[in-house]
Amino acid sequence: NENFTLALADEAATLAFGGKLAEVLTPGTNIYLHGDLGAGKTTLVRGLLRALGHAGKVKSPTYTLVEPYTVSRLNLYHFDLYRFVDPEEWDAAGFRDYFNPESLCLVEWPEKAQELLPAPDIDIRLQPEGEGRRVIASANTDSGKQCLTKLNL
Ligand code: ADP
Ligand code: MG
Repeated sequence: NENFTLALADEAATLAFGGKLAEVLTPGTNIYLHGDLGAGKTTLVRGLLRALGHAGKVKSPTYTLVEPYTVSRLNLYHFDLYRFVDPEEWDAAGFRDYFNPESLCLVEWPEKAQELLPAPDIDIRLQPEGEGRRVIASANTDSGKQCLTKLNL
């Protein structure tokens, strides 16, 4: 199941799905998270980080644009580009270097920096469905496909 969709009935389901992702993602994977404000993108990242053993808070890097984590010997970068406006900031802030074979990048609002971001291995979309959400995932590269194929939902 390299492309799939799944209903997420409540917040716990989104956290659990993030946890499942944590089991299969490998360093060097670049994930775009799509969906409106409140869709559950940060919740998914929180579930993923918790499953990797992160005990602290996971807050939206709305103003800092990126929050770095080191968990399970993995460098993880959580981007929220909602407020990203200045392309010159991209290299100045060193963001380019965050996308490397040793790090796992999760990017909220990739649309805001489309011309600067490397292509995603996996696209994950969250949308409202009833009281809950629907997640739609698709892989664009071989490594992305390998990850999603291993998912045990
Ligand atoms: P985003 O990062 O996409 O803006 P957040 O992750 O901050 O969104 O979450 C928005 C809200 O949606 C939170 O209050 C969270 O509890 C809620 N939420 C997350 N997943 C679900 C779900 N599957 N069903 C219902 N509510 C959810
Ligand atoms: Mg968010």
